[in-house]
Amino acid sequence: MAYNIAIDGPAGAGKSTIAKMIAKKMSLIYVDTGAMYRAMALYLLRNGVAEDDVEGISAKCREAEISIEYEDGMQVVYLNGENVSGLLRTEEVGNMASKTSVQPAVREKLVELQKELATKKDCVMDGRDIGTCVLPGADLKIYLTASSQVRAKRRFDELTAKGVECNLEQIRLDIEERDYRDMNRAHSPLRQAEDAILVDTSYMSIEEVADTIMGYCKI
Ligand code: C5P
Repeated sequence: MAYNIAIDGPAGAGKSTIAKMIAKKMSLIYVDTGAMYRAMALYLLRNGVAEDDVEGISAKCREAEISIEYEDGMQVVYLNGENVSGLLRTEEVGNMASKTSVQPAVREKLVELQKELATKKDCVMDGRDIGTCVLPGADLKIYLTASSQVRAKRRFDELTAKGVECNLEQIRLDIEERDYRDMNRAHSPLRQAEDAILVDTSYMSIEEVADTIMGYCKI
């Protein structure tokens, strides 16, 4: 049986940073499920499918072949054979992913891929519905959160460091809008699984968060 850690939580809580650290420290594979939703969103954007076109999204989902490979320990996402990893972290793709991830056709396809990966490999998987839906039997479940103000400031600092001009208040509003969509969608909304451990990272350093979670790992 593969060993699986599930990390869920809202955008900007630090899931991917922490999941990568834990994966490295424990020699697990890191599975970034958000990147899969982003790859699907990129395909829909490229094909001019509207975010609310249920039929169109369903048809394009059948055409899009998304797969995950590991190169030098890093997750690489392939979309119909093309490495799209470098194209996924834009605001445009993120917003489209947030809107189109409510579609059952998108979720069914990607959840199946995620479940399959987790049965084959010891992994730490992050997302929104990992503990509740993708890996209900995970060995450890963490629900990582932080206030929207703190999450917005982290994103603002990250973008500013890259030289991208941005507005803190606008980022906070975007984050709150995404939280609302993720938490209120009909199909597998974001919520803390009953057996997940809540970790609020608002006033913790990355190291403190990683150490706290490692403390719960029994391997
Ligand atoms: O985590 P990330 O921001 O990369 O995810 C992009 C979008 O994909 C999120 O806004 C969320 O709506 C969606 N998502 C999801 N379920 C997951 C992972 C991501 O619905 N397991």
